[in-house]
Amino acid sequence: MAPRLITTDTRTLLVRQTRHSFVREIDFTMSPYSGCAFQCGGGTKGDQGYCYVPDLLYGRAERLGGWGNYVEIRKRAADVLAASAERLRGATLFMSATTDPYQPVEAEFRLTRALLETILRKPLAIKWLLISTRSPLVLRDVDLLQEFGARVEVGISIPSDREDVRRTVDPRNPPARRRMEALRALRSAGIPVRLQVSPMMPSTEDFPRAASDSADWTWIDWLAHGRAGGRALFEAMGWQEWLVADHVSARAETWRETLGPARLGVGRPWFAARWDGNRAVRWLGDAPESDVVDNDHYAQGPAR
Ligand code: SF4
Repeated sequence: MAPRLITTDTRTLLVRQTRHSFVREIDFTMSPYSGCAFQCGGGTKGDQGYCYVPDLLYGRAERLGGWGNYVEIRKRAADVLAASAERLRGATLFMSATTDPYQPVEAEFRLTRALLETILRKPLAIKWLLISTRSPLVLRDVDLLQEFGARVEVGISIPSDREDVRRTVDPRNPPARRRMEALRALRSAGIPVRLQVSPMMPSTEDFPRAASDSADWTWIDWLAHGRAGGRALFEAMGWQEWLVADHVSARAETWRETLGPARLGVGRPWFAARWDGNRAVRWLGDAPESDVVDNDHYAQGPAR
């Protein structure tokens, strides 16, 4: 079912991050859309999905027809961004915390591309932009991303490289194979890229090796931030162990053996890291290399 499209006249775009934010090391998030047609976890085993965003919207997603069934088009997004030049001087940005900037509607509305053009042409003196997506559509903007140089990084999320897992859990996501190809193409074009394996799910033995060949580095996390429906989904799939931090930590160690510590980050604090050309580094200083698992994060226990 195609999502219902709602055009809005948004006057706010930038959200300043607080010390409680998932990306608290980054200054601002921005979202060209609200709502997301990828509806992660909304497959045959999950009626709520595992995306954390609807829980942040205080019932708005349900009022608009349910998460995944609507997309709000923030048609003035680029104008609002252009008016924020002073706030963005020297700032770090994340696009997007609450939507996928390259979900299918972007092919028609091109708001994400307009935001990139605004940063480059205005120009806005940002320090760094992290883009996160599940879509190969990001390849359309390679020309702009190359102009950013080291001021941009693209993360592509692939929780599992198994097509049977995608079809069952994330049927609206593009195939993992196409997302891996997008990683390789971006990397070949000289754009810093990371693979995001989150929430980690059962995968093939080849996944770490393919990641090593495709991305500069890999970030891994588990279902600590997913909504309650995500937990039910994992249980319906028989993946109870993937809700346990120790299991994911052990799996992360096998990735570390393939990638090496410089090319792997595990847990929340490593999301806001960047590739410096040789290794992933955190904006607020590096954790010891042996400390690949963020103990504060995992001490919270499995997602509820
Ligand atoms: S792509 Fe991101 S925002 Fe969209 S449904 Fe999936 S987790 Fe949520």
